[in-house]
Amino acid sequence: MSVTGLPPYDDSNIFARILRGEIPCKRVAEDDYALAFHDIAPQTPVHVLVIPKGRWVSAADFHAGAEDAAIAGFWRMVSAVAKAQGLEATGYRILSNMGQDGGQEVPHFHVHLFGGRRVGRMVPL
Ligand code: 5GP
Repeated sequence: MSVTGLPPYDDSNIFARILRGEIPCKRVAEDDYALAFHDIAPQTPVHVLVIPKGRWVSAADFHAGAEDAAIAGFWRMVSAVAKAQGLEATGYRILSNMGQDGGQEVPHFHVHLFGGRRVGRMVPL
């Protein structure tokens, strides 16, 4: 069981398969801790996903269980990708969906990086 009560990590999830190289992705950056790649259905001109390399379902799992270096490495990549994508001057949004109410579709913790245009209200009314 994950710390959130969500189901345990499922090694067949699509991001696990991308990490294993079974499914291709448009890679943006990769290091020992994280992989960044373009979302298959981009919602903004820049829409990059950043995923940790460990088997974490949610932010809660990741932050409770991952080593400090892995957590730091992951978040450093988020910022580095935003900079490399040219988003720092105009800004961007980092978003992570968690569980059912959050609308999480892929049960491997990930962060969306949106930019390239005004991304609108934080939560639709
Ligand atoms: P979630 O709703 O879980 O926060 O977001 C999952 C995201 O993964 C969605 O934006 C969806 O478009 C993206 N996605 C789903 N399957 C694939 C895939 O096979 N490749 C890539 N690059 N993105 C995917």
